Amino acid sequence: MTDPIRIPDDLKPVDGRFGSGPSKVRPEGVDALARVSRTLLGTSHRQQAVKRQVARLRNGIGEFFSLPEGYEVVISNGGTSAFWETATFGLIRDKAQFAEFGEFGAKFAKAVADAPFLAEPTVHRAPGGSAAYLSAEPGVDAYASVHNETSTGVAVPVKRVAGADPGALLLTDATSGGGSLDVDLTETDVYYLAPQKAFGSDGGLWIALMSPAAIERAHEIKASGRYIPQFLDLVTAVEQSRLDQTYNTPALATVFLAAEQIDWMNAQGGLGWATKRSAESAAAIYGWADRSDVASPFVTDPALRSQAVATIDFVEGVDAATIAKVLRANGIVDTEPYRKLGRNQLRVALYPTVDPADVEALTRCIDFVVSRL
Ligand SMILES: *Cc1c(COP(=O)(O)O)cnc(C)c1O
Repeated sequence: MTDPIRIPDDLKPVDGRFGSGPSKVRPEGVDALARVSRTLLGTSHRQQAVKRQVARLRNGIGEFFSLPEGYEVVISNGGTSAFWETATFGLIRDKAQFAEFGEFGAKFAKAVADAPFLAEPTVHRAPGGSAAYLSAEPGVDAYASVHNETSTGVAVPVKRVAGADPGALLLTDATSGGGSLDVDLTETDVYYLAPQKAFGSDGGLWIALMSPAAIERAHEIKASGRYIPQFLDLVTAVEQSRLDQTYNTPALATVFLAAEQIDWMNAQGGLGWATKRSAESAAAIYGWADRSDVASPFVTDPALRSQAVATIDFVEGVDAATIAKVLRANGIVDTEPYRKLGRNQLRVALYPTVDPADVEALTRCIDFVVSRL
C-alpha cells in the first residue's frame, strides 16, 4: 500500500467546500442561527417572528436583483424540483418550448412532456458543454431555459425571445446562476432559484421572481378550472408570499440562513459585487486550467464558460476521480463532476460565498496532488 497523499496545510484553502449544491454555508450565518435558536427555531410560522424572517428574505432578494416595478418575490416549499411541477400546472397554458443542454433543463422539459393536459413541447437540444437556444415559434405560450446548467458549467444570457407571440412567457431556471451571473429581470417573466446554491443556505425552498404577466397567467389558468394539486397551486403561493408566509411549514433554518446570507451579500455590494467575485474565481480556475499541461476547461467556447460552476477536464492518464478522492481525504470536498455527464473532470462552484483566494488555493492543491500521483 502506498502512503496516503497529504496536502501541506499552507497550500490548502481556508474553507474546503466547493460543492455546486448544496454549497458552502458561511459559518457566520450558522452562528447567527445559533443565536436565535431559542427564540425562532421551534416557533410558529404563522407568527410575527418567523414572518419577519420570510419578509427579510423576500425584501433582500428583491433588493439584490433590483426587482422591477410590479414583479413579486414568491416563495414556497419543495425546492426547484417542486417549482417545475408548479409551473407545469400553473404557468403553461398549452405549449412550451425548451432550450435543453444538460440534466437540469431536461428535467423540467420532461415534466412538461409527461403532463397529459399540455401539448407536446418543442425541445431544442445541444450536447453537454455547448448551449441550445430558444427561437420564436407560433403557438408557444411559454419558453424555458436555464441560466446556468449546473451539470455542465455552461451559462447563457437571459434574453427575451425575439418575435415570440405577444404574451408568451419566459421562465428562467436560475437555481445555480442566480447570484453569480448578471441579469436584467425585465428580460424574463420568472427567474426562479433555490437557496442552496449561490445563496449559501440549505435546500427545500423555491424562490421565484415573477413578472405581472406571469402572475396574471397563474390566475388565468387557475380560473380555467384545470386540476391543480393544492401543494402545487401557484396562486396560493403568490397569496401566501404576500403575507410573508408559506402554504405549508417551511424549514425555518433554511429561511433564516438564506435571509442572513442575502443581507450579507447586499451589504457587500449586491449583485454587482457578487458577479465580480464569481468572475474573479472563474478567472483563477480557467486561467490555471488554460496554463496547465494536464487540465483544460471542458466548455470550449469561452463565451459559454460559466462563472457560477466550472468544469475542468483532465488528460487521459490523470484520473480526476482519484484527484477528487485525495482532495476529499484532505478536507477539500465536493469537486466530483456531475455523475451522469460521465467525464474525466472536476466541477467547482464559484458562487459568491466562495473566496476567490480559496479557488486559487484549490488549483495549487490539485497541482500538488497530480505531482504525487
Ligand atoms: C440544483 C438545481 C436544480 C434542483 O434544485 P432542487 O432544489 O434540488 O430541486 C434545478 N435546476 C438547476 C439549474 C440546479 O442547479
